[in-house]
Amino acid sequence: MSSENGQTAGRGAADHVDAVIVGAGFAGLYMLHRLRDKLGLKAEVIEAATGVGGTWFWNRYPGARCDIQSVHYSYAFSEELQQEWTWSEKYAAQPEILSYLNFVADRFDLRRSISLGTRVTAATFDEASNSWDVETDRGRRLRARYVISAVGCLSAGHVPSFPGVEAFAGKTYHTGRWPVEGVDFTGQRVGIIGTGSTAIQTIPFIAQQASHLTVFQRSATYATPLGNTPSDPAEGGDGPGEAATRLAMEWESWAGVPFPRIRPSGKGVSAEERTAWFEECWAQGGFALWGGSYADLLFDPELNEAAAEFIRAKIKQKVRDPAVAELLTPRGIPYGTKRPVCETGFYETFNRDNVTLVDIKAAPIVEITATGLRTAAATHELDSLIFATGFDAFTGALFAMNIRGRGGKRLQDHWGEGPRNYLGLSIHGFPNLFTITGPFSPSVLFNMPRGIEQHCDWIADSIAAMERQNLASMEATAEAEAAWMAEVKAIADMTLFPTTDSWYLGANIPGKPRVFMVFLAGGKRYKEICDEVVADNYRGFALSPA
Ligand code: FAD
Ligand code: NAP
Repeated sequence: MSSENGQTAGRGAADHVDAVIVGAGFAGLYMLHRLRDKLGLKAEVIEAATGVGGTWFWNRYPGARCDIQSVHYSYAFSEELQQEWTWSEKYAAQPEILSYLNFVADRFDLRRSISLGTRVTAATFDEASNSWDVETDRGRRLRARYVISAVGCLSAGHVPSFPGVEAFAGKTYHTGRWPVEGVDFTGQRVGIIGTGSTAIQTIPFIAQQASHLTVFQRSATYATPLGNTPSDPAEGGDGPGEAATRLAMEWESWAGVPFPRIRPSGKGVSAEERTAWFEECWAQGGFALWGGSYADLLFDPELNEAAAEFIRAKIKQKVRDPAVAELLTPRGIPYGTKRPVCETGFYETFNRDNVTLVDIKAAPIVEITATGLRTAAATHELDSLIFATGFDAFTGALFAMNIRGRGGKRLQDHWGEGPRNYLGLSIHGFPNLFTITGPFSPSVLFNMPRGIEQHCDWIADSIAAMERQNLASMEATAEAEAAWMAEVKAIADMTLFPTTDSWYLGANIPGKPRVFMVFLAGGKRYKEICDEVVADNYRGFALSPA
């Protein structure tokens, strides 16, 4: 129980700050800059990792890199920063993105306000003082008017509970917690579970090192070529004076990545013309086929199936063994309704003698043993086992923070039947808590640094308004939440997305309520709505005077 001076009975005194920001990835770093340096608030970042960078600190597996061009997958808030940093590749690799985020932390003198190696273990709203008590695993307590979650959509790793995993004598790894010192698989028999974005990036690298690599695949994936190259200044986008044009193009595009040549519709277009256009997009690389071919690709089942068939034919061409090619070929799910995946040498890796593909849909994993992995069909002897099994997306890291709102209600209980909020930013019953890229914002289906900046700006402006008007609290109303949930669902239901089991729906986590968690009308429309809410005196928020 808290008292008025911020002390908690029976525990140590709390440090008083205006805002606690949880997480030091793209989101936490910029949020700190906005609140501390632009608003003059006392703000502190708490970060579980021993360094800044978030995703790019933790995901050090070989082959990790972004699949949005680096000129777009970077901050835009500072033209000076843009001019001081040069990307060496079109799609930067993890070490370079991590260096960039460290450069940002130094460039804006952020480190002095960041506590590293510290995990937030509880955040409890105190109704008497309209502030939050934040506790850490280091026994520290903070009292803050505002808590801002920058914990990331994809930061809580998911390791399925296969029987016997603790008996395994070799080493196990989750790709999202890759050892800082790296791993040498030379001479080892390595197993990897999963064929999502992560596995598809790392498999070609592990295959080059391991004596044998066994890939355990449950679902085949549509992967298109990344087309990475060294940076080409002639391509432009980040030169002096180019920022405004680049930004405008990003915001004009649905996913925050410009594809100015996207065609409005593939309906009624001849098969030859479609294929020729798909071919051009394929050669362009990255998300071009998914986000830059036809605007109705994710709405029209027949057009979508044509794109799927196009990819299936490519897989057949790349993989020598027809049986392996068939196993790698996705069927029965629309293309692009799971997060699109980009590859470099993934399919060709299955032409190597030291790589085996195992179908764990037909013969599921039964157990992990001391010496390997047993499926319903065979036993595989392994020295190391990699879980490329993804994340408990959106809610995993929020729940792990043990957030309690009004009346001591736990967020887990409040969201027992699935998450709900307003604009992805604010939760009824949890005042003065803001969630950067929370569920039901464009988040993971928009260029993430761009969406993060928009959220941080909106939150900072809202906090500034609260301070100016001497408001004690701000929180979404239940009615606004209900209307937002209905709007997000109605938009999603117009598309093919909800027809596929994916982590967008929570379908990758056993028992997780099935709710489509992304606002799909695009970043531009979303930003307009956020701005309209402000212009309408924070429509849908309850604002309480001090
Ligand atoms: P994160 O970078 O996830 O940072 C969150 C931080 O919060 C973490 O460091 C975590 O340790 C910390 N944290 C969580 N809980 C606590 C707690 N209780 N206490 C203290 N600290 C806590 N997006 C794109 O748009 N394009 C891409 O190309 C792209 N590539 C990706 C590649 C990989 C391998 C992955 C996993 C994701 C990728 N993403 C990509 C999504 C990526 O997560 C975002 O682009 C972005 O990095 C998210 O930044 P963030 O700051 O919101 O969260
Ligand atoms: P993911 O896309 O969720 O893939 C997880 C893989 O593990 C899938 O193949 C899944 O199979 C498999 N799997 C999960 N649970 C399993 C189980 N119990 N038994 C057998 N197989 C199981 O996770 P991810 O690859 O880590 O990627 C997550 C997200 O991070 C991406 O979607 C993307 O947003 C981001 N990311 C981006 C990049 C990039 O290129 N920029 C790289 C990596 C990650 P099923 O499909 O059958 O569930």
